[in-house]
Amino acid sequence: MIPFIINWRAAVRSAVLVGGGDIPGVDIATVTGANKRPYVPATSWKGRLRHTCEAIANALGMLTCTAPDAAEMCPSCWLQRGGGAQVLEFSYAGRDYGPTCPVCRIFGSPWWPSPIRLTDLTFVRHQEGLTRTVDPTLRWQVSISRQTRSASAGRLFVAQVASPAGGPGTIEAAGSITGAVPEEDLLGLLVAGLLSLETLGHARSRGLGWLGPPIIELKVRAKNGEATEEMKTIEDPAAYAEEKLRLLVQRYKPHAAHVPDSG
Ligand SMILES: [Zn+2]
Repeated sequence: MIPFIINWRAAVRSAVLVGGGDIPGVDIATVTGANKRPYVPATSWKGRLRHTCEAIANALGMLTCTAPDAAEMCPSCWLQRGGGAQVLEFSYAGRDYGPTCPVCRIFGSPWWPSPIRLTDLTFVRHQEGLTRTVDPTLRWQVSISRQTRSASAGRLFVAQVASPAGGPGTIEAAGSITGAVPEEDLLGLLVAGLLSLETLGHARSRGLGWLGPPIIELKVRAKNGEATEEMKTIEDPAAYAEEKLRLLVQRYKPHAAHVPDSG
């Protein structure tokens, strides 16, 4: 296994609506922690990131399964539907997990527990040299009726969000991923997913949850099994991701149905 640490953060461009909270009179509340501050639960962040990595893998010609339904995930989906020959077999520590897509190798399948851990995402505001956690703000939105093209009172929508409009200073979403991947080239896909993550939370169609360009710190212990070796900081995570992603596609290439020409 290749251990790594990733610290991820991105400016919040428009209010993030997470859901999962429960406040009387508020249609959708953003979940808040013990300190009453909004956050994005790790499971929600992980789901969005997994979906982004699937889209990248598919765009590069690698087949993936479809989380989260176990019957539609590796290896069951290939055994039932066929097509497993196009997905690389996965063996680790003397155990055979059958055809397993690159996304399951990172995020886990019903048989292979996810080897990575994500923290909850917190929202912080940088203000006057201090970093503070962000208070939730209420946002009112009116649904416009398609038929009458007018707002109806019954469709007034109140949401509690983490909003950059809640006060001065830039707000950022921040979180970490730790763990290990079974093959180093998988980090290319994971980092590419983090670099491509454009939104958080619900209601993207309402213009909510848009993020600025992410800032990623990546440390990798490159040599397998040398417990004493220090984590190495990767100077340019985007270039690293591109290189590793290329290797991952090469590894899958004989198995993939079709891989686009790199030119
Ligand atoms: Zn899979």
